[in-house]
Amino acid sequence: MKTKQTLTQQTVSLIEIPKPLDKLSESEIKRKACIGKIMTYTLRNLTSQFVDSGFEWLLPVALSQSTDPLWPDPGASIEKRIEVDIYGKTVRTTASMIIHKLIASSLAYPKLFILSPNIRIEKAERATTGKHIYEFTQLDFEARDASTKDVMILVEDAVCSLLTSLKRDMKDELTFLCRCDTIKLPKRPFKVYDRQELEAKYGADWEEAISQETSDPVWVTNIPREFYDFEDFKTGKWDNYDLFMPQYGEVLSGAKREWEYEKILQKIERDNVDKSNYALILKLAKEGKLKPTAGGGIGMERLVGWISGVEHIAETQPFPRVPGTVNEL
Ligand code: AMP
Ligand code: MG
Repeated sequence: MKTKQTLTQQTVSLIEIPKPLDKLSESEIKRKACIGKIMTYTLRNLTSQFVDSGFEWLLPVALSQSTDPLWPDPGASIEKRIEVDIYGKTVRTTASMIIHKLIASSLAYPKLFILSPNIRIEKAERATTGKHIYEFTQLDFEARDASTKDVMILVEDAVCSLLTSLKRDMKDELTFLCRCDTIKLPKRPFKVYDRQELEAKYGADWEEAISQETSDPVWVTNIPREFYDFEDFKTGKWDNYDLFMPQYGEVLSGAKREWEYEKILQKIERDNVDKSNYALILKLAKEGKLKPTAGGGIGMERLVGWISGVEHIAETQPFPRVPGTVNEL
């Protein structure tokens, strides 16, 4: 018998590991193609919404000296970081484009989004969570002078509009995937919970508990993590947010960001993050050129995985990136 895995539970049972294209049966190929149509529709819908709201669409980069430290983040579990020397300098594969976003939004593109490649060599034991892959794509967006409330309204608009359109235009595909009746249009505004209250109520497994309990998408705020998310030093509260989908889990993480030099420096040192990898953002902050922004990143495979009702999000990938498994393609 198969049981769903959760983000936080240990492996307790089998989950089918998605196979590469050449190993799929005819019916599995049909299902793959159907999920592919949902992905195409979702990409077109969301990118159009961002463009129509005045966001510039930036192209991604794969190699940089500076990338997301992914630390400290309670959700991160990286087995190895990929570094390579080019032209006499060490570059890293993109873990996320957060640093690029903050600088691009501050200097040239006030409202921007990127379909950004994220390479995170997740520990092999995450193969069976159903929620982790080692290469994925974020629809990563950032807006200068935006507040948390602004981002929440933007995302709620985007999600509700996407679901309305999907239910109208993709009935056959959703029916094939048995999702036509299970996906409901959410009530707005989405509820907002504080992580501390959830922890007090549910303990360490609060992410799983709130995802199972809710029948609508919910926000969770105040989650301690990387230096670039805004932290109020007086109250100790973090002005950041995750979006959780019902019976599923996290699909988006975001925040209002830090922009002041002293705070960024203090947090980088506090977290034992290597300052030399963040020289540019520190320099710009010191010169007053880093601006207050807010944004977030939607994991496309997670979102489309939720819409399609997949057991493992690698089912949404043409070339599955399951932790611990390397295929020829
Ligand atoms: P993060 O800022 O690390 O939470 O990443 C932003 C979003 O990317 C998350 O909310 C997820 O939707 C997605 N994501 C993060 N890690 C993974 C992973 N290993 N596999 C698939 N999607 C992921
Ligand atoms: Mg997250």
